[in-house]
Amino acid sequence: MVRLNEIRAGEIAVAAPAADDAGLVYIGRIHTPWTDRLACPRQGRLDGPSCRIELFEPWVAALDGLAAFARIEVLYWLDASRRDLVRQSPANDGTTRGTFALRSPVRPNPIGTSIVTLVSIEGNILTVRGLDCLDGTPLLDLKPDRTLFTPIAPPQAGDFETEG
Ligand code: SAM
Repeated sequence: MVRLNEIRAGEIAVAAPAADDAGLVYIGRIHTPWTDRLACPRQGRLDGPSCRIELFEPWVAALDGLAAFARIEVLYWLDASRRDLVRQSPANDGTTRGTFALRSPVRPNPIGTSIVTLVSIEGNILTVRGLDCLDGTPLLDLKPDRTLFTPIAPPQAGDFETEG
């Protein structure tokens, strides 16, 4: 039986430093079918269930233009995660990997990111498919899928720099 927030064989927890104030604001809330972390998908799938992203004011005006993209990137705060593991054992078999080699929700800054299919935008509600988070998860950001996005601003010197 897998328990939430357990320390598994071989895992290493550290004394996590006090949080810096990054000044993050939750810009909305994500509504999904999942109320139990152990029932969520490990990774969302583009043909997964429709989920609703509720965007709070005053950010609704910032949606202008987003509907042109078939897929968008959603960033969210995995608020129920512990944040102090440096080695984790996803299979609970004693085999561990470093946290940064995993996409586990347990990380010093529990930011989740998914590429999702954009189904619709109506007012402050986006309907998407491809999420993997709990109902009520706080929303951090929305962006066009980078593979569909061409920078609009003129190029800068760094755009032409290559190694060597
Ligand atoms: N797709 C994202 C990524 O790769 O950055 C998140 C992947 S993470 C492995 C997804 C898992 O996080 C879910 O299966 C669930 O167990 C857990 N999870 C979902 N919502 C959460 C929340 N609000 N707080 C903590 N854990 C959550």
